[in-house]
Amino acid sequence: MTTTEIAELKELLSTPKNVVIVPHKNPDGDAMGSTLALWHYLIQNKHKAVVIAPNDYPLFLKWLPGESEVLNFETHNTQAISLISEADLIFTLDFNALHRTDTMEPILNQANGIKVMIDHHQQPDNYATYMYSDVNMCSTSEMVYHFIEQLGDLETITPEIGTAIYTGIMTDTASFRFPLTTSTTHRVVAHLMDIGINHFQIHNQVYDNNSYEKLQLLGCALSNLKLNTNLKTAYISLSSTELDKHDFKKGDTEGIVNYGLSIKGVKLAAIFIEHKIDGIIKISFRSKGEFDVNQFARTHFNGGGHKNAAGGRSESSLKNTISKFEALLIKYKTELRS
Ligand code: 5GP
Ligand code: MN
Repeated sequence: MTTTEIAELKELLSTPKNVVIVPHKNPDGDAMGSTLALWHYLIQNKHKAVVIAPNDYPLFLKWLPGESEVLNFETHNTQAISLISEADLIFTLDFNALHRTDTMEPILNQANGIKVMIDHHQQPDNYATYMYSDVNMCSTSEMVYHFIEQLGDLETITPEIGTAIYTGIMTDTASFRFPLTTSTTHRVVAHLMDIGINHFQIHNQVYDNNSYEKLQLLGCALSNLKLNTNLKTAYISLSSTELDKHDFKKGDTEGIVNYGLSIKGVKLAAIFIEHKIDGIIKISFRSKGEFDVNQFARTHFNGGGHKNAAGGRSESSLKNTISKFEALLIKYKTELRS
């Protein structure tokens, strides 16, 4: 964001405003961490702010400071629509295109509030008046920290804000291991630790809250893992029957795709999950090195994301979706083998 834009936003935020903050559908740790961090910052500055999530989020995030105040657009539709129409400012966080909010898209399109995007995904759409888009950032949560920094308010960061930011950074970098984790990321975290966040407790809440069924589902996923050594690809599928059998809850499949990528030599990993209620196959792609899964997901599976982590969907059957993927692998054999 330019200094002029920051100055304009600072001016806008100098008097109390009605603010709506929106994460993407199926919010993850970074989506909830970044929106709640910004929410704490804004209410502490006397704004009337609300986080409106397009739908529910996983149990392992249902301890974040302030999360009980989050409005679910699906279950509180009327209230959410009126808050959006009254908003002076609408912050959209951790997504690059309004369709990522699913059924909120038309409401957000019609809204008169000034839109501010804070996001780190590739190829952002141009819907916001103020765009803080940086694809080199490890997480939107780290961007919220820099946003507060640019507004000159670093010293007002509380442990609640810090906890939300840390959660987003930790989950989007897989605990500081992904390539976009920088020395600045670590300096941000060091500052958050100085002001009193409890990194151990945060890690425990997010990663050591597994149910027995979730681990059984992981076992099932790992036994379904297919490896194509020749094309350096590993993929997993989970049918709706398998999900039902293991009492699937939102968030239970998060991170499973990374097991494929942990096999020596594998450059591309995918997971195909059959969501019977939505009638779609939700796909996650992960890669190491130059293979661009953002482009791959965009071109073939109606999705997108980052170069090394992206998602997509398919409306065909699980079997047909996997056949399409296998056929594509052959088309991309040069890139995959290099
Ligand atoms: P995941 O596989 O964990 O759902 O998503 C990986 C990354 O890709 C995340 O940053 C997520 O926001 C992004 N992503 C997932 N699905 C989609 C999609 O359908 N469209 C776009 N543009 N990004 C996606
Ligand atoms: Mn993110």
